[in-house]
Amino acid sequence: MSEISKKKQASKTIIKKCHCCGQILESSVEMSKCVSCGKSFLPLSYFDKIHGNEKYKFSELFSPSDEIYEEDLIKGLYVLW
Ligand SMILES: [Zn+2]
Repeated sequence: MSEISKKKQASKTIIKKCHCCGQILESSVEMSKCVSCGKSFLPLSYFDKIHGNEKYKFSELFSPSDEIYEEDLIKGLYVLW
């Protein structure tokens, strides 16, 4: 099995509920906006990331699911599956 397919099998799904319209979103990478209402989202742990990594562009702050842990989630809005 190649490294790519191993990583793909191990990846988790991020399930997020939009705090504006209630749409449920699923992705392997953090969503930057709601597909239903267009509301823009901040990346998880946004303030920790911008204070430690000012050299990164905003779009690079959205993490793949493998880099996110339960303690990073906002309870009631996010689930890792
Ligand atoms: Zn929405």
